[in-house]
Amino acid sequence: MGECIFCKIVNGEIPAAKVYEDDLVTAFLDIAPINFGHVLVIPKEHHQSVSTVPENVAGRMLKVASRIGIVLKRRDEYDAYNLHLADGTAAGQVVMHAHMHVVPRGVEDNFRWNWRQLTYPDGKAAELAKELAEKITVALSNTEE
Ligand code: 5GP
Ligand code: ZN
Repeated sequence: MGECIFCKIVNGEIPAAKVYEDDLVTAFLDIAPINFGHVLVIPKEHHQSVSTVPENVAGRMLKVASRIGIVLKRRDEYDAYNLHLADGTAAGQVVMHAHMHVVPRGVEDNFRWNWRQLTYPDGKAAELAKELAEKITVALSNTEE
């Protein structure tokens, strides 16, 4: 993955402010943070989508991200953290190497996710849940994106 910026960080070809590294994952400060201490946790192996990251690596990503979140929230500036992962351009993924954001949050940090809340028409939620349940069972036995 010659041109992937995060692969270059993993390989030490470009600098990053690393905060953690083990056999499976690397974590470093986001270059343009939402709040100071915003960290990215990435698999060392290149995957565009988190859906193809092996389960043990994905599990390590979540474990490391949540423990980094704990470290961040114990600092005086923050009270909590968000974990965020964009999978695909329409979801806001800009760097095409799967990564989990750990965003430290304070009650007065003046940052709001633009989170809207729609309402399902009558019967639509049950219908959609049934359709998804069938497809998810199949998807879990597959490995492609
Ligand atoms: P995405 O929108 O793909 O979920 O987030 C990509 C993140 O990577 C952004 O928050 C951006 O600031 C960060 N980023 C992009 N290029 C670099 C880089 O070269 N070094 C570091 N440390 N972060 C980067
Ligand atoms: Zn990569």
